[in-house]
Parts: sequence; C-alpha cells; structure tokens
Amino acid sequence: MLVVKKFGGTSVADNERIMNVAKRCIADYKAGNDVVVVLSAMGKQTDVLIDMARSINPTPPRRELDMLMTTGEQISVAMMAMAMDSLGVPAISLNAYQVAMHTTSVYGNARLKRIDTERIRNELDLKKIVIITGFQGVNKYDDYTTLGRGGSDTTAVALAAALHADKCEIYTDVEGVYTADPRIVPKARKLKEITYDEMLDLATLGAGVLHNRSVELAKKYGVRLVVRSSMSEAEGTVIKEVVKMERMLVSGVAADKNVTRISVVGLDDRPGVAFRLFDALAKANINVDMILQSIGRHDTKDITFTIPRDMEKDALDAIEGIKDTLNMEHVDTNSQVAKVSIVGAGMMSNPGVASKMFECLFNANINIRMISTSEIRVTVLIDEKEVEKAMNVIHDMFGLDD
Ligand code: ADP
Ligand code: ASP
Ligand code: MG
Repeated sequence: MLVVKKFGGTSVADNERIMNVAKRCIADYKAGNDVVVVLSAMGKQTDVLIDMARSINPTPPRRELDMLMTTGEQISVAMMAMAMDSLGVPAISLNAYQVAMHTTSVYGNARLKRIDTERIRNELDLKKIVIITGFQGVNKYDDYTTLGRGGSDTTAVALAAALHADKCEIYTDVEGVYTADPRIVPKARKLKEITYDEMLDLATLGAGVLHNRSVELAKKYGVRLVVRSSMSEAEGTVIKEVVKMERMLVSGVAADKNVTRISVVGLDDRPGVAFRLFDALAKANINVDMILQSIGRHDTKDITFTIPRDMEKDALDAIEGIKDTLNMEHVDTNSQVAKVSIVGAGMMSNPGVASKMFECLFNANINIRMISTSEIRVTVLIDEKEVEKAMNVIHDMFGLDD
C-alpha cells in the first residue's frame, strides 16, 4: 500500500514532536507500506518569516517573499529525515525543485499544474521513506512559488493523486473536522464523515482545518481524505463523495475574518458598469466574494462587495485606476467585518434554514450587513467583534452539539 501522510506546523513544532511523527511514519513503513510524508514549516515559522521580510521592507516583492517562505518547509523535512535516520530507518527529504512540482507563476498563490513522480518512485524503490516539503512549487521561470497559506494540505492531496496513493491522511492539532472551530465553539462535535462539497464550502468559508484547494483536488481525483490528530490515536473524519447516513440539515458553521467590504457609491446606472469594475479587480488578481448591487435611483446605483482583507490596498488601487472611465461619488471601505456561514447538503430540500439563522442572529441582537446563499450554504456579513457570539448561537440553534 502507498500512504501519503501530511503533518501540520503544530505537529512538528519541536524535536519531541518531530520524533513522535517519525515514529508514527516508521510504524507504517515497518508494516510494509510505501510511505510519503508531507510537512509544513515547524510551529509558526511561516509567520516568523513573513514578519522578518516586513521588518526590512513593508511590502516585500512577492517573488522574494516566496523565496524566504520556502525555507520553512525545507528545515522541517531535513529535520524529519535526520530524526528517522537516528531511529535507523532510511529516509530522504526532497524540496519542490528536487521533486519537480510545477505550478503556475503567481507568487504567493500559485496552483499546482503537474508533479513529476519519477524521483519519488525511485526513492521508494530504494525502500526509503520520502519526506517532501509542503506549500511550495516551482514555476516556469524555475523560481520557487508558494500555494497560499495552509497550502501543504494541497501538496499532500496532489501527491496522493499523482502517485495513486491508497490513503491520504492529514494529521493536525485537532481530532478531525468539527461542526465548528472547536477553539471558538466549545460545544462543537467531531464529524465521522462529510462530503467533498460540504467540506469545500466550509474550507472556502473559513474553516482553516483544510486548505480549500486540497478538497477541490480530492474531489476531482477521488482521493479519500482522512483528517485526524497527530497527538492521539482517535479516529478522524473521512471526506468522500457520499456519506452513508442521512444528510444533516446543517453540517457545520464557519467564520472568516479575512474580509473587507468595499462600497462604490453613486455609479452611473447603465450597462457595462459592473463589468468594468469587476474586470479591473479580476485583472489585479483579486477574488471578489459577496456582491450586492442596489436598485438604481436618480440614474445612479451603488455596488458593494467583499474581498480578502489582505488585498484591500490592491483593490483600492485597481478602482483608482478606472476612476476616470466610471463616474462614481466615492468609495467606502470597512475592514471590521467578518463572514459567518452555515453549510449543509440537507438545506437543498428544506426551506426555512436561512430564516432560522437570521432569527437567531436577531435574538442575539446581531445586525446582518450582507447576505449571500447557494444551494448548500448561507453566508452573512456581520461586525467582526460579534463573530464568536454569532457562531455559538447559530451552533446551538441548529442543535449541532452532542
Ligand atoms: P495544521 O498546522 O495542522 O495545518 P491548521 O491550524 O491549519 O493546522 O488547522 C487546524 C485548526 O483548524 C484547528 O486547530 C482549529 O482551530 C481550526 N478549525 C477551524 N475550523 C475547524 C473545524 N470545522 N474543525 C476542526 N478544526 C477547525
Ligand atoms: N507553512 C505554511 C503556512 O503556514 C503552509 C501550511 O502550513 O500548510 O501557511
Ligand atoms: Mg493547515
């Protein structure tokens, strides 16, 4: 059997934890399996590296930031190979360049395009445990790229797909996927299983337990994922196409604080205005999320939308760039907002889920600033300081606790 095992930063934060992970991987190896290990940087090393970059240049060139960030994963894989060697097991660490993990060129947010598997296969044939850097890739200029924060999960799933692995296990600092972030909602319950679609929505809407693109890839290539704890033997959560049990109305609540709301006020009410605005944002590589256009009156309208908070400056620059081609009165921004969402496949056939969510926010005196929905989710934009309260009351309302 070929197993891909991914361990996050907390799971390899110090020598003791590295040893613990090494022993877990060796147990699989000694049972006769081919073992590929994907690691994140140790502890909060990626944050430390970003601070280091900003200390010398507040807006570091994205290529150089990637060059710096990729060192984090390189340290952890080398340390792991050394730990395994000390336990008498042959192991080799490889970075994205050595494997050849090809990505698109966008620094800081690259997408994996192709992974060469030859080197990995050769090392496995030599009976070694192969330890690979998560989060990084190489673009067509032979430069290092990174896949976006939390991207090691995506490396692991992509490797599992490319190697046709039998199992892909994501080890982290909680025991699986919960009905809400257990650090914010103490009553959150661990899910036995969840569908790709629900997990994709939860991850995209802020449930940081998995990088959303890892779920997208897992669905595309049918990689069955297990999320579990690196500190205990507890059974984790399985993510797969269909779940056996009856679909729950709501399977989870997620929150995302990396949000800024931008309103462009007093635009002309004529064709092409929305196109020009969002085209400029798309060209600046900005992901727009919720969009609200007011009804036109006196020949003007307002367009309000949300973007990731760390893209605020880029977005305002992009709007400034088209100011002359669009009439607008002013631009208003608010970065003290956050999104709270409920996700569940059962919602599709059950009207009234959204109103139940709005009712409990009303009961908690929380004001809703924007709303957006899909077949299996409802998202509201609220004040950032009310996120914890909102998540807990919504979680209670839908009876998601045990
Ligand atoms: P790693 O370093 O292992 O990748 P992350 O910090 O990226 O770990 O992800 C694990 C964290 O995700 C947990 O500590 C938890 O606080 C958070 N989290 C958010 N939403 C959920 C959820 N629905 N279920 C489990 N954990 C969640
Ligand atoms: N080390 C990277 C980060 O902190 C990637 C990861 O942990 O998945 O974002
Ligand atoms: Mg993570």
